[in-house]
Amino acid sequence: MASDNRSKLHDRVIKVAEEALAENGYVAPVDVLTGVRWLPPSMLRAWRQGRVPCLEQVMNVKPSRILEALEMLRAWANQRGLQPSVAVYVARTPERPHLRFGKSGNADLEKDYCTHFISPALSEKKRAALIEKASHPPELVVVSPLKHDWKCHRCGKTGDLLMMEEGGPACLSCVGLDDLEYLPRGDANLTRKAKAKSTRHAVVVRFSRARKRYERQGLLVEAQALKEAQEDG
Ligand SMILES: [Zn+2]
Repeated sequence: MASDNRSKLHDRVIKVAEEALAENGYVAPVDVLTGVRWLPPSMLRAWRQGRVPCLEQVMNVKPSRILEALEMLRAWANQRGLQPSVAVYVARTPERPHLRFGKSGNADLEKDYCTHFISPALSEKKRAALIEKASHPPELVVVSPLKHDWKCHRCGKTGDLLMMEEGGPACLSCVGLDDLEYLPRGDANLTRKAKAKSTRHAVVVRFSRARKRYERQGLLVEAQALKEAQEDG
């Protein structure tokens, strides 16, 4: 690449990295890729929902150029004394597959894409919280609707519970969670055990008109996990 192009890219990468760092206290490669406008936010959302096979496929730029930007980010982070931390990226779908970044599937490159850089200026506690959050992907959320006049956008049926998807509400059968059992909140010990034993789980929420927010009602867990947790006592 011409050195002029390279230095322009370098300036853009550093600018968005500094902005992300100032705003969040850390920088993720995906922040830089959206910041330099290679990755449209709508495509990032689609990828996070597991609707595209890999991130490089939805970026209109050559993988070699992405590699170059990632290297610039790493060198800058190193120079700034930021702390690297590998985050976990899984899809927000019931199967929770690990999300893929590169077309090649190269393990080192995948790790580079997952590496966040954390500000040393943050307190120890804040840094630990950021690392903890990045290593635990957000939970699946299932809604217990107030009204039952909704229709699944995939099959047209309705039900007691739904999951919000890009296209609208979906029934648990269509999202593949209809085999799970409902465990209402109340028994913290049982909830913790059942959740730990279940390979899949979702949080059930319901909108409170009085408090104007969604509130946790309980958990959906695998029937076997619930049985084992109950037997554990
Ligand atoms: Zn359905």
